[in-house]
Amino acid sequence: MVHSQIEFRGITDPIVLEAMRTVPRHRFVPDDLQARAYGDHPLPIGYGQTISQPYIVAMMTQALGVGPGDTVLEIGAGSGYQAAVLAEMGCRVYTMEIVPELAVRAETTLHDLGYDVTVSIGDGYFGWPEHAPYDGIVVTAAPDHVPQPLIEQLKPGAALVIPIGPVGAIQTMWRFTVDDDGEVDGESLGSVMFVPFTRTDD
Ligand code: SAH
Repeated sequence: MVHSQIEFRGITDPIVLEAMRTVPRHRFVPDDLQARAYGDHPLPIGYGQTISQPYIVAMMTQALGVGPGDTVLEIGAGSGYQAAVLAEMGCRVYTMEIVPELAVRAETTLHDLGYDVTVSIGDGYFGWPEHAPYDGIVVTAAPDHVPQPLIEQLKPGAALVIPIGPVGAIQTMWRFTVDDDGEVDGESLGSVMFVPFTRTDD
């Protein structure tokens, strides 16, 4: 998977590649889909949600630019796979999930595999201020605008990697950084398709 789908498409960060080789992706998909876990596609994980395609996980992780000892916030724990990749890289990971059943399952999977990730149930729009500021924030569901609280919880120079766009259509993956003066800079990383970012009042 790593060579043909990920390195081949230009992901070069050795720490990301090594983590993706190590994390057992099949443990994060439903039992009946385990044979397809390492394929070049997203897979359903229940509750209308998906585990992202391996290449997209690698691309977002590389764009975060984090490493051992960094504190990272993820919004959209889903299966827990992205959080496991970050934890495998040596990051301290906090992840939020709005679907309680998925949050509980992700936490169980992560802990069974020995990953010390903190999972919280709730709407990630407001981030997780208690552990801020973060060395990186990754959002794995697509809102139609950038949640300002997430920008505010970044350390200077840290990146927010987030798909932005309309529900059910092509979105754009963005990498936002904030400098020491609070100036926000955004860079487009290409077109993607993600599940919608939902709100508790949806
Ligand atoms: N990172 C996940 C991908 C999961 S898909 C993985 O590796 O498997 C995106 C997830 O975001 C879904 O589980 C969805 O329920 C969740 N989500 C959507 N809106 C959210 C919100 N406002 N706050 C937290 N999680 C949200």
